[in-house]
Amino acid sequence: MTYEIATLRGDGIGPEIVDEAVKVLRAVAEVVPGVDLEFTLLEGGADYYAAHGELAPATTWKTMESAHAILFGSMGHPDIRMPDGTEAQGHFIVNARKKFGLYAGVRPIKFYPGAKGLDPSQKQVDLVLVRESTEGLFASFGGGAEITGEVYADTMIITRKGTERVARYAFELARTRNGRPRDGARHVTCVDKANIFRSLAFFREVYDGVAAGYPDISSDHALVDSFAMLLMQHPERYDVLVTENMFGDILSDLAAALVGGLGLAPSGDIGDDHAMFQPAHGSAPDIAGQDRANPVATILSARMMLDWLARRHDDDALRAAADLLERSVVATMESGALTVDLGGTLPCSRFGDAVAATVRELGAETGR
Ligand code: NAD
Ligand code: MN
Repeated sequence: MTYEIATLRGDGIGPEIVDEAVKVLRAVAEVVPGVDLEFTLLEGGADYYAAHGELAPATTWKTMESAHAILFGSMGHPDIRMPDGTEAQGHFIVNARKKFGLYAGVRPIKFYPGAKGLDPSQKQVDLVLVRESTEGLFASFGGGAEITGEVYADTMIITRKGTERVARYAFELARTRNGRPRDGARHVTCVDKANIFRSLAFFREVYDGVAAGYPDISSDHALVDSFAMLLMQHPERYDVLVTENMFGDILSDLAAALVGGLGLAPSGDIGDDHAMFQPAHGSAPDIAGQDRANPVATILSARMMLDWLARRHDDDALRAAADLLERSVVATMESGALTVDLGGTLPCSRFGDAVAATVRELGAETGR
C-alpha cells in the first residue's frame, strides 16, 4: 500500500529539518521491502501569510485531511503577527489540532547517545508527556475577550469528553511501555493544579475515573508547580504524564532539557482519525538558514509517524521501518556524528546524510 504523507516544511529551520527527515524516510523506503511513501509538499506558514494574507492555500488543508499522515516542520516568526497581536503560526497549528481532533500531544523524552542532559548516568529518564491539545487554556484561542484595550481574558476550558479521551490515551500508552526507570512499574501521573482551579479539580476527577478502569497501571497526581521541580530532580519516578494543554506545552520543553535539548524532542499530535508529526520545538529563527539545526527531533517524529501508521493499518513492513529508523539514529549518534547543539561539528544536512547512510547499511545487514 502507498501512504500519502502531507508534508509541510513551514518557516525558519522547518524546511531544513523536514528535508532531512524526508531524506531518511526515502532511504528507509528504499531498503525495507513493502514500504511505499509518497510525499506531497504543501505550502503554508508565517512567511506564506506575510506574502499572501492567508496562512495556507485551501489545497494544504484538503491534503492534510485526505493524506494518511501529516509530517510537519515548524512555523512562525516573532515579527509576523495577526491583527489581534498574536503570532500567525498559532492560527495554523492550534486550529489544525482542533480541526482534525488531534487531542493527544505525545512527547517522548529519552536519551540518545552522545547527548548531554542533566543526568550524567543517562539511565534515569524515559518518559512520555501527553499534552491535551484541543482545549485547556488554548480553548479560547482566536477568541478570548478584550475590553476597551485595557482588559484581556483567555479562558481555561476543561470538558469531560476532552479529559476522558486524553486520559484513556495515556493509560493505553502506558500499557505499551516498559514502565518507569525507578522500578519498571507502569505508571501514569496526572499533572494539574487541582488545589486551586475548579476546572483542574474536574480534570483530576475525570482522570481518576479513567484510572479506575486500568487496575494494572499505577496512578498518581502532582501539582504542576512542585512537579516542575520533581521532574528535574527525580525524572526516574515518571513513565507517562498527562496534563492540560498549556502546562504540557511548557513542561515538554522543560523535560527536553533533561536529555540534551529541544533538538532531541519529537512529538505527535494524535487523534482518532488523523495525526500530525512534528518536533516539539519551534522555528528557531536564531539559527534558521545556517544548516546548523539538529534534525533528530524531526527524524524521530517521522519514526513516530511510521509507528502510528503501522498500528493503524496493521502493517508489518512499516513496523520494521520504524524499528530500522530508530536503530539508525542511535547507531549514527553512537558513532560520534552529532550536530553543533550537542557539541558536534556536523551541519544539519550532513547529519541527515549520515543517518540515511546508516539506514542503508543496517537495512542491507537485516536483508542478508
Ligand atoms: P524554538 O523552539 O524555536 O527555539 C528555542 C531555542 O532552541 C532556540 O535557541 C533555538 O535555536 C533552539 N532550538 C530549537 N530547535 C532546535 C533544533 N532542532 N536544533 C538546534 N537548536 C534548536 O522556540 P522560540 O525561540 O521560543 O520560538 C521561535 C518561533 O517558533 C516563534 O515564532 C514561535 O511562535 C514558533 N514556535 C513554533 C512552534 C511550532 O511550529 N509548532 C512551536 C513553538 C514555537
Ligand atoms: Mn511549545
